[in-house]
Amino acid sequence: MKRIVGVYTGSADIMKTNWRTVEEMKDKIGLNLVILGMGPAGDVWGPSPEVAQKAPFKVRPAGKEDHLNDFIREAHRREVKVWICISCYAEMDSGPNHPDLAFRDLEGKIVEPVLRQGAGWAWSWCPSNRKLRSYNEELLKDLTRKYEIDGFTMTHQRYSPIGHSLFNFFGCGCSECERAASELGYDFGKMRAGMTKVLNLMKAVNTKKLTKLRDLDLGFMDLLYCLGADSSLVDWLNFRCDLIASGMQRYHDAVKSVREDATMGTDSFFPTFSMIGGHRYSTLEKCSDFLSPLLSHVYIFTIFNFMELAERMIGWNRGLRDEDILPVLFRAFGYDGLGLPNSLNAFHEHEKLPSSDFSDTKLPLGEIIRREAFKSVASIEHSKPMYGIFSGHSLMDAAGVGYRATAMREAGMDGIILQVGPLPGPEANLRAISKVLENWT
Ligand SMILES: [Zn+2]
Repeated sequence: MKRIVGVYTGSADIMKTNWRTVEEMKDKIGLNLVILGMGPAGDVWGPSPEVAQKAPFKVRPAGKEDHLNDFIREAHRREVKVWICISCYAEMDSGPNHPDLAFRDLEGKIVEPVLRQGAGWAWSWCPSNRKLRSYNEELLKDLTRKYEIDGFTMTHQRYSPIGHSLFNFFGCGCSECERAASELGYDFGKMRAGMTKVLNLMKAVNTKKLTKLRDLDLGFMDLLYCLGADSSLVDWLNFRCDLIASGMQRYHDAVKSVREDATMGTDSFFPTFSMIGGHRYSTLEKCSDFLSPLLSHVYIFTIFNFMELAERMIGWNRGLRDEDILPVLFRAFGYDGLGLPNSLNAFHEHEKLPSSDFSDTKLPLGEIIRREAFKSVASIEHSKPMYGIFSGHSLMDAAGVGYRATAMREAGMDGIILQVGPLPGPEANLRAISKVLENWT
C-alpha cells in the first residue's frame, strides 16, 4: 500500500492561488493528497443542474466553468491526488425547514443540536431517508463523471455523537428507519421498547446503586447487565451499524459504477465509541476502500460524551455527584487509568471548550489519541489501508503533533491526513511530522 500523506483544505479557489504552499508541503512532509471539502449545499464546484434539482433540499449547482478539472490536472502534474469530501449532515439551519428529512428520537420528536458543551453542531438528517440516499448516489455518480477526481471521502456518514446530545443514541425513530430496520431483519418495535426501558433505567439510577457499581469496577457489558438492559440493546447497536454500512455500500457502489479506479471511503468515530455511533469498523472495512479514524476530534468524540452522559444523569437523578458517575463511565469505556478528572468543572479549563484537538489543556488528549489509534488498527483485518486523521493546527505545539504522528506510525497505520487550518500549517509542526515520516517504512 502506498503511504498517504494528505491534508484537508477548503475551496479550489484558495488552492489555485496557493500552489507554492502545496509544493512546500510536498517538500517538507511528502504531501501526496489534497482533500477538498464540499458542504451539503455545494461549493464553487458541485453537481450538474439536473442532479442538483433532485436534491431534497436547496443545492447550488456548479457553474459551467468551475475549473475544478484544471485544478485536478495541475495537482496531478505535481503527483498530488485530489479527493472530494462529501458531507452528509444538515447544515446549521436546515433541520427545521425539512421535517420530512429530520433525525427524530424514539418518540418521534426532532432532535435539536445542543450547545451544552459550548460547541454546537449541525442538525442531523435521518440516516436512512430514501430521498437523501438516492440523491447522494446521484451526486457521487455525477461528480465522478464530471471531474477527473481520484476519490471521495464521506463525512457525517454516521449518527451524530452522543456528546452533542444523548438523544442521538436514542434515534432515529422515524418511520423511514422503522422500514429500514425491517428490511435489515430487525424488529423496530421491540428495539424501541427496549431502548425506552434503557433510557428509563438511566433516569432512575440512584446514588446508592451507582456507588456500588463504581466500587465494582465494571466493564461495559457488566454495567449494562447490572442496569438491566435486555437483548434489544445489542440489536439496537447492531442495527445502527448495519444501517450506516448499508448507506456506505450504496455510495461505494455508486462511485464504482462510474469508475472502478476511483477511491471511496469514509472518516469514522473513535473506535471506543464507534459501536454507539453506527460505525462497526470490520463492516466499514468491507464497504470502503480505506478507513480514516477522525482522531482530531477528541473533544467531540470522547470528552463531550462523558460530559453529556454525566450531566444528563445528574440532571435526572437528584443527589448524584460527578465523582459517582464519571469513574463508572471511564471504567465502562476503558478510559480509567488515563488520569481524566472526576469533576465536570475540571473539563472546563477554558471559557469555551474547543470542538477539535487542542494542546493547551491538562487533559491527556495525546494519550487518548494514541490509545484510539492502536484500537483502530486492531479493529480491522487490515485488508484496506487506514489513515489516521489528526490535527497539526496552530494551537498544537510541535511536541504534541510529533507525538500524534508517532502514534499513527507505531499503531501500524498506512498514512496520515492532517487538519491544519490555513495551509501549510505551522513550520515547527511540519518539521515534527517530517521527522516521524522519515522513519515510517
Ligand atoms: Zn429516520
